[in-house]
Amino acid sequence: MIQHSSSRKPPLALIVNADLPSRLSMTAALAKVDFKVNEAVNGEEAIILFQSDNPDIILIDAHIPEMDGFEICAAIRALPSGKYVQILMITETDDTNAVERAFKAGANDFIAKPLNGVMLGYRGLYLLRAAQTFYTLNSRERRLVKTQKRAQLAYWEFDLTNNIFHCSPEASSLLGLTDNRQLLSYEDFLAPVINQEYMRVKEEINAAIQEKTLFGISYQISLPDKTLRHILNRGEILFDETGNAEIIVGSIQDVTDLKYTEEEIRQRAFYDGLTGLANRMLFMDRLDHELSLAKRKKQHFALLFLDLDQFKRINDTFGHHVGDLLLKNVSEILQRCIRHTDMASRPVSNSSDALLARLGGDEFIILLPDINEPDNAAIVARRILHEITAPQPLEGHEISATTSIGISVFPVDGEKAEVLLKHADSAMYHAKGTGRNNYQFFKESLNVEILERIDLEQNLKRALERDEFLLYYQPQIQLSTRKIIGAEALIRWVHPLKGTISPNTFIPIAKESGLISDINNWVIQTACRHNNKWTQGGFGPIKISVNLSGHQLANQNIIQIIRDALQENDLEAKYLEVEVTESMLTQDNEATVWILQQMKDLGITIALDDFGTGCSSLSDLTTFPLDSIKIDHSFVTKCAKIKSNLLVIKAIIAMGHCMGIKIVAEGIETKEQLNLLKEFGADEGQGYYFSPPVSQDDFVKLLTKGSL
Ligand code: C2E
Ligand code: MG
Ligand code: MG
Repeated sequence: MIQHSSSRKPPLALIVNADLPSRLSMTAALAKVDFKVNEAVNGEEAIILFQSDNPDIILIDAHIPEMDGFEICAAIRALPSGKYVQILMITETDDTNAVERAFKAGANDFIAKPLNGVMLGYRGLYLLRAAQTFYTLNSRERRLVKTQKRAQLAYWEFDLTNNIFHCSPEASSLLGLTDNRQLLSYEDFLAPVINQEYMRVKEEINAAIQEKTLFGISYQISLPDKTLRHILNRGEILFDETGNAEIIVGSIQDVTDLKYTEEEIRQRAFYDGLTGLANRMLFMDRLDHELSLAKRKKQHFALLFLDLDQFKRINDTFGHHVGDLLLKNVSEILQRCIRHTDMASRPVSNSSDALLARLGGDEFIILLPDINEPDNAAIVARRILHEITAPQPLEGHEISATTSIGISVFPVDGEKAEVLLKHADSAMYHAKGTGRNNYQFFKESLNVEILERIDLEQNLKRALERDEFLLYYQPQIQLSTRKIIGAEALIRWVHPLKGTISPNTFIPIAKESGLISDINNWVIQTACRHNNKWTQGGFGPIKISVNLSGHQLANQNIIQIIRDALQENDLEAKYLEVEVTESMLTQDNEATVWILQQMKDLGITIALDDFGTGCSSLSDLTTFPLDSIKIDHSFVTKCAKIKSNLLVIKAIIAMGHCMGIKIVAEGIETKEQLNLLKEFGADEGQGYYFSPPVSQDDFVKLLTKGSL
């Protein structure tokens, strides 16, 4: 209707009045100012004429029989097209309620009788102008709303000074908030932000206030029905003349679809369509990242290059569809294999995860980050070879695959991505050449080393049954008196073919294969038994230190083992000491503190071994219930030569004494070292200067001497 008015000349007025003379005089007055006029005598006629002719203004007499003027006004307003038309109510002079009723019914203005013809004409013109202004504004706003809706933009504003928040209806509906916008606060506005991002969003807006910058933050919100949407919130801060932040104005936009599109593009660009694994591009990117990380942290990592054996034959025999299914299955098996072994093979749990990628065809590659030693890569390779051969039911066929694996290790096999890949690839060809279904390291020496390790591991399993372990003892000396006050028990493995093997070689293997708890058990039992024997022979008892290794001491039932060993050998707890290393302490902090505390409660003492080789953290000294610190022999050996070592040793001793912890110096080899350590105040010492670790019988001879 109103939109017609600009194109329609002259404008159209509708007079609703039951009284003929009034109608005639009003029509005349409006005609004078160029209105065309329609007339209705009651509500029914008025509504019909309104709907058929779209008048620009309506003049309604309040006093009409049956449906009165107010009801007619309300009825027209209730029509879909009646929202915007200008309505003038004509009221009786003495009707004081009429004005209020007129506005309630939706009239724009009112005029009281008696009517003046000239004034009525002008009122008509003013109403027409108001109608046009209203229409222009209204259509502009509707256009804006439409545009914003199309862009899914919605506005918000926060008056910081008066703590008043306002947002457009689009904003509250976008956030799934209540319709009653007056009740919304800034907190309500941020409430739908998902928990993990809430603080970040608040902080970024606060930072924009502090730094007087614009902001653009993307985050996720959770709607009342629990669906998640991605929101882009952009805004700026308005400041007053004194530079204080006054108002934040912002717009929010639902960018969920955009995010999904981005994600889809990313998926296509970086992931393999068939298996969903990373593709070559993503892999190379991660490899570069891993290279710089490993260089910085001086870590090792391995690449395992896999190529399925005779995949072409499977494709040719059973068709590409079955070939594709096999590749999918294989990718799942590989994922399981790296997930399973990953944790066990790595010392530090906060390093990045292993990555599996499909390079194309039947070629896969695995990046194993932060491996302790090449054997960790071999463990994964062996698991893969084993798991992959299990027959897989594919479309009615039982197919079992094998694969050949080539391994390269950073940094020994190369320090650049291409070189490492090339070497893993050629190692894979070597694996094919040696009969397929096996793995090969690029460096031949590593293959030999790994084979030896596997051999050792297998023999180690039988060593306990075959009674091949021995305990050697190294005396511990009180430095002020040079008296033997204890001994450290050090294990030896007498291998039937290879002779004596150092614990440095087999303890790490025992840790990985899980044999360590049996070994710890054996050492505790044997040391206690020997100590009892010496006491029976008239020496001691003296304190014996045993070394404990392995993850999760708590799972090793160690307290019961110690209790039993002490009881069976009738030994007081104070004659047993356990040595733990810093790496053990940092592994499972809470559980370790608990287990050490239980040991203390039993009455045995605890020494921190090899201090100065790990991270030597002061907090270890306060967190754990330690009785002594053993300064590592590498420090002691160099102490006389390097001044900075002297200072470090001096500091460790002072610090330990402050905390009531005894200091033991390991690896004293010369008189000079001994004198220096004595001077600095070390309490006890051990080392070749006094005696190397010796067999049980020889140790008894030392005990006979009493001091060294
Ligand atoms: P550790 O506990 O720090 O033991 C001290 C090592 O330093 C011993 O080597 C000992 O022979 C050596 N040593 C002693 N005096 C000197 C010296 O003056 N100079 C030099 N350069 N070295 C000296 P060993 O017996 O080969 O043991 C090596 C490591 O193996 C031990 O280091 C300990 O961590 C581990 N280990 C030894 N026995 C056991 C055991 O029964 N159980 C466990 N879990 N680990 C053990
Ligand atoms: Mg030790
Ligand atoms: Mg040590």
